Amino acid sequence: MTTNLAESMNSVLKGTRNLPIKALVKSTYFKLVDLFVQRGKHWNAVLNSETVNHNEGRPMGNFMVDLLNKCCDCGRFQALHLPCSHVIAACSSVHQSYQVYISEVYQVSTVFNVYNEPFQVIRNEDFWPSFRCIKL
Ligand SMILES: [Zn+2]
Repeated sequence: MTTNLAESMNSVLKGTRNLPIKALVKSTYFKLVDLFVQRGKHWNAVLNSETVNHNEGRPMGNFMVDLLNKCCDCGRFQALHLPCSHVIAACSSVHQSYQVYISEVYQVSTVFNVYNEPFQVIRNEDFWPSFRCIKL
């Protein structure tokens, strides 16, 4: 799953860029509805689960962790604004919760709220405002 919004939108629009605008809007709308339903279900399941795998892609070796400056030698902590396994181990050794170092953008409640918004229904084409433009 990509976390970059622009990459997500590009993947949604892939294969529809050559369509007429009306078909493009309809296709994008229904693809986004499907995507939001899928991701909403996924994050709802994550929100309701009790375990999360924090060891995925964990670098091996000895690393220095500076909790005050939010820094780890592996670089993942600074780059992702998410505690790496070394930060989690350091927090555990000083009896501190690592969750305070998780950026707000990664918190499940924040991600869940993104997909919790309802879609507006597209009105019938007869009710669309007329398009006015300057012809060149
Ligand atoms: Zn680290």
